[in-house]
Amino acid sequence: MFSTTAIGIDLGTANILVYTKSEGIILNEPSVIAVNTNSNQVLAIGYEAQAMLGKTPPAITVARPLRDGVIADFDLTTALLKTVLEKAIKNGASFRKPNVVICVPSGATSVERLAIKDAVTQCGAKEVFLIDEPIAAAIGAELPINEPIASMVVDIGGGTTEVGIISFGGIVTSATLKLGGDALDEEIVHYVRQNYNILIGIPTAERIKQEIGCAPCELPEESMVTTGRDIVTGLPKSVTITSTEIRECLNESLLQVLATIRRSLENCPPELAGDIVEEGIILTGGGSLLKGMEDWLRTELLVPVNLAPSPLESVAIGTGRATETLHLMKNHK
Ligand code: ADP
Ligand code: MG
Repeated sequence: MFSTTAIGIDLGTANILVYTKSEGIILNEPSVIAVNTNSNQVLAIGYEAQAMLGKTPPAITVARPLRDGVIADFDLTTALLKTVLEKAIKNGASFRKPNVVICVPSGATSVERLAIKDAVTQCGAKEVFLIDEPIAAAIGAELPINEPIASMVVDIGGGTTEVGIISFGGIVTSATLKLGGDALDEEIVHYVRQNYNILIGIPTAERIKQEIGCAPCELPEESMVTTGRDIVTGLPKSVTITSTEIRECLNESLLQVLATIRRSLENCPPELAGDIVEEGIILTGGGSLLKGMEDWLRTELLVPVNLAPSPLESVAIGTGRATETLHLMKNHK
């Protein structure tokens, strides 16, 4: 009865999402998996697995199998994908043998892409299609990708920043920087250790980034109290950190993001440059939610810069919507 249903999957380095046209996003969880290494049994995925990080006995491994835009552990990635599909079905996706469109990190090799296709097929998919991330992000952000108007998409994810220029439904040029939101968290951990002799974990750094982190532009100063372990005494200690400090500490990484976008603009075929100057750049991915990002890039690049309607979901939505044009994709891949 539901044999024509299709689902879209965004297998991101930080988050994995599943989308269906009728139900929207039916699963959105961190790309984390917990496995019992003795029995190879999957114990948890997503938020549940993330909550186990750093708290498990040696027989349990909690891992993020996708890192820096590549598949770091293939077996765990497939196990994650399979569990996600089972969970999505439980969450109410009314499908039996769906067609699946999946977006994998750009750094995945062709062998890995084929193997992911196989894994999804094994989970009961009828047909599996891979889609390029910038195209999925552009569809999700409602850009007119099949028209003769060039669009530029900048996707700042967990492990990478991807820049793509799209015209007539295909990628004209693209660039990948192996730096995304995760690197910013690491910079914050490093800064707090260097300047306050305090050790904080990644989740704390992430909170600092989201609350008071900002792009290198003028914003009212904010501050927050953070607690970590004093390196000297070994005891918990709290300090107040300001947004000015965090801005300084993120500066260098963000300049790399800027340089990558600038280079893509410079490499843009002249016939398309006019469209980009007029239509501007669409920003997507969780990293684009950093305060001031949109304004800062607009000031630096002198082209319009707009945030996608739901930056954390654009790729998943685009992947799901692409299922409506499967006939086009068959010709494509
Ligand atoms: P991926 O596609 O690699 O899975 P996402 O697009 O899901 O990545 O983005 C995840 C990244 O976005 C993480 O590094 C996270 O810290 C960052 N992020 C999420 N929300 C915010 C926010 N409000 N401010 C800054 N960074 C954010
Ligand atoms: Mg992504």
